[in-house]
Amino acid sequence: MSTDQPARYPSTEAVITAEAPDVPSFLFSHNEVAKSAAAFRDGIDALLTYAVKANPATFLLEALHQNGVKAFDVASTNEMEVLTSVIPDAVMHYNNPIRTRREIETAYHQYGVRSYVVDHADELKQLAETIPASKDVEITIRFKAGRTRRAYDFGTKFGILEAGAIELAAEAKRLGFSVGLCFHVGSQCEEDYAYVRHIACASRIAKAAKLDLTRLNVGGGFPARYPSSAAPPLSRYFESINGAVKSNFGDSKPPLIMEPGRRLAASSTSVLLRVKHQRNGMSIYLNDGVYGALMEVKFMPILPPVRVWRDGKVVQGEVSAFTVFGPTCDSYDSLPRPFPLPEAIREDDWVEFGQMGAYSQASTTSFNGFATRNTYFVDEILV
Ligand SMILES: *Cc1c(COP(=O)(O)O)cnc(C)c1O
Repeated sequence: MSTDQPARYPSTEAVITAEAPDVPSFLFSHNEVAKSAAAFRDGIDALLTYAVKANPATFLLEALHQNGVKAFDVASTNEMEVLTSVIPDAVMHYNNPIRTRREIETAYHQYGVRSYVVDHADELKQLAETIPASKDVEITIRFKAGRTRRAYDFGTKFGILEAGAIELAAEAKRLGFSVGLCFHVGSQCEEDYAYVRHIACASRIAKAAKLDLTRLNVGGGFPARYPSSAAPPLSRYFESINGAVKSNFGDSKPPLIMEPGRRLAASSTSVLLRVKHQRNGMSIYLNDGVYGALMEVKFMPILPPVRVWRDGKVVQGEVSAFTVFGPTCDSYDSLPRPFPLPEAIREDDWVEFGQMGAYSQASTTSFNGFATRNTYFVDEILV
């Protein structure tokens, strides 16, 4: 268990009234975690796993676990350590194909990991030389099937094309491992058809390599509900996935795994920043930026929901486009697009960004000494 539990408040308003936080603050809502976990759990018959990299905060891991998430996608031995420190019986899938032999040994012997992704023949060879081949160990072949309308592409770094996947899967089977398949359509994927295309490809690979598929992992990529997003509802993704599995696999339907990061984590947290300076009605300088909680807003085409607070009340009125700067002495520390904010915004106000639970807390730095960030548990936050 985490030792220092953050203070708990009913609302963002209550945090501001009681704490008037001067450093960047993460407002974490257990209610929102319950809702996002339920949306997956109740929406589709699949093993729900959480991609730890989206946000490894221990209170989020614990909250997900309390809401039925028992298995996790981990990418490093450090993630395994953090995860098992709060959830000792966590089931872990080591779905980063790039590892040293020592990392593989640690995962296998110390953490009991029995599921490993590969997307290259050398990685399979490395695994087979490091741990004993057996049906108790699942090798998951990560394949890719063309490009997708998504905000962030993983296909340039990972995934093997269909023909290579068939060979790799056949080789893993020949070596004596159990074999699964997985893909990742790219993060914030706004097109449910991307999953359909990959599932069709998975069935061709399974047939060609004569696989008795242990599981089909349809990955992450499920979109968070940013106001800038045109994505269909989560239920449409589930219908498309179920339909594609049925039409391509028929009676030999493999058990499904889902591996969301962003969609499970995003709504759990909003970020409360303070206005340090407002200049000429055109620019604002916040107490955190690109080297902190807003890193992803710099390089992803996302616009989180936002509201501005003063004296415990939301600032209303005409909205205008502001250039937003972070607090460091670096001109890179600015948002790439003007941000719509109330014209009345001024020094000492707070800006609350919603849907910030994924890829925010996880990638903060202490650049320029801006290292202190608070966390509060808040029941009702901006989503
Ligand atoms: C990052 C990642 C995920 C989660 O992706 P989201 O787009 O955040 O849902 C899932 N699986 C793997 C292997 C990943 O690298």
